[in-house]
Amino acid sequence: MSVSREEFIAKLNEGKVLLYRCRRCSNLQLATIVFCRRCNSDALDVVEEKGEGRVVTFTILYVPPEGYEGYAPYGWAVVRLDSGVNISGFIDVKSAKDLPLDSRVRIVGYDGRGIVLKAEDGSSK
Ligand SMILES: [Zn+2]
Repeated sequence: MSVSREEFIAKLNEGKVLLYRCRRCSNLQLATIVFCRRCNSDALDVVEEKGEGRVVTFTILYVPPEGYEGYAPYGWAVVRLDSGVNISGFIDVKSAKDLPLDSRVRIVGYDGRGIVLKAEDGSSK
């Protein structure tokens, strides 16, 4: 069973993320790579996860992709989902002090920059 790019993006727009779980070793990874990154098996099951996790690290981008100049500066964060899978995505923060490490964030969609994240209430707007 495999997940198309369109399905993957549609789930992101619902605030969810599709993962593959390896039938051989149970490794979880984003459903964008068709072989298990740990053991190379191609026997993968689709798993849907709520797109929520914690900020591992982030950087502030001052030079956005073409067409997204109006958003700059903004944050580009690495987030560890509650399942332990890491994702990275855009988050609307203007300065390093706006988003403490370990803040709770969730996926709210997908656009030309990639996955769009939002901080849970309290840590950012
Ligand atoms: Zn595996």
